[in-house]
Amino acid sequence: MHIGFIGLGNMGSPMAHNLLAAGHQLSVFDLSEVAVEALVVAGAARASSVQAIAATDCELIITMLPAARQVKAVYLGEEGLLANVHPGVRLIDSSTIDPLSAREVAAAAEQQNNPMLDAPVSGGTGGAAAGTLTFMVGGSKADFDHALPVLQAMGKNIVHCGPAGNGQVAKVANNMLLAISMIGTVEAMNLGVALGMQPEVLAGVINTSSGRCWSSDTYNPYPGVMENVPAARGYSGGFGTDLMLKDLGLATEAAKHAQQPVLLGALAQQLYQSFSSQGHGALDFSAIIKLYTGDTE
Ligand code: NAD
Repeated sequence: MHIGFIGLGNMGSPMAHNLLAAGHQLSVFDLSEVAVEALVVAGAARASSVQAIAATDCELIITMLPAARQVKAVYLGEEGLLANVHPGVRLIDSSTIDPLSAREVAAAAEQQNNPMLDAPVSGGTGGAAAGTLTFMVGGSKADFDHALPVLQAMGKNIVHCGPAGNGQVAKVANNMLLAISMIGTVEAMNLGVALGMQPEVLAGVINTSSGRCWSSDTYNPYPGVMENVPAARGYSGGFGTDLMLKDLGLATEAAKHAQQPVLLGALAQQLYQSFSSQGHGALDFSAIIKLYTGDTE
């Protein structure tokens, strides 16, 4: 299939590479010429603008952009996709944005006969490179079924979450829980160690007891408990604190619109905000343990 791809950053670039590897024909655009060049070397066709992508004969256009501001500009701007794309071309936005913006863009696309899905991902840059991302997809079931083979070239778990915007709903709910469970794990580990437990013994107990969660058994934040996690390498790599902060902002904003209390989500947002403002925004989000240990490194 001829696919247009816009947004070749940390996530978009490996996703686009996987589409090429699966035999799809790609036309690509990014504001970064360096990012475009890397895909062109791998076999993609260069497009010079969003309009140029829209002018191709691609059947599907995928976007992977930083935030709602860029998504709205790329889709709804005068020189954007909707103003220029051929009717019938399918659209998938895999950026993580708030559900309301996703619904606004999808409604505008549907109105002019461009079926659209929101399909944010989890799995990070490692999952993007390995083609094992989880896609949480919002849109009609028929459009989901049509997109499935393409999404399978980039991901392993592809879940239809309901109508437009629901992919983003699933994503913000999951990441809010992850933020909260990480802070809970940090508190429990730190308390146990302060009271005299060996961290690896405590982690072993938690991971076979009712406190077990992904933050404790797969991504433990306490240094020395696990290998191959950010805590084992000074909290480099992984999922950045500022990206988690962005997702918590989406969750609390969406909660405001839904008039739904998210007491722990809001507290987690404040804790990550505080941690980021101390200059740690680039560290993996499990480094939030430093708020408790007083480690300023
Ligand atoms: P990134 O900043 O590395 O890449 C975004 C790319 O979009 C950049 O290359 C940028 O030049 C390009 N871009 C921005 N505005 C543009 C425009 N108007 N036209 C064309 N290109 C434009 O971001 P990323 O890490 O690839 O993340 C992309 C999305 O995926 C974000 O919404 C993020 O929250 C989400 N996400 C990221 C991760 C992760 O671990 N990095 C994990 C899950 C989800």
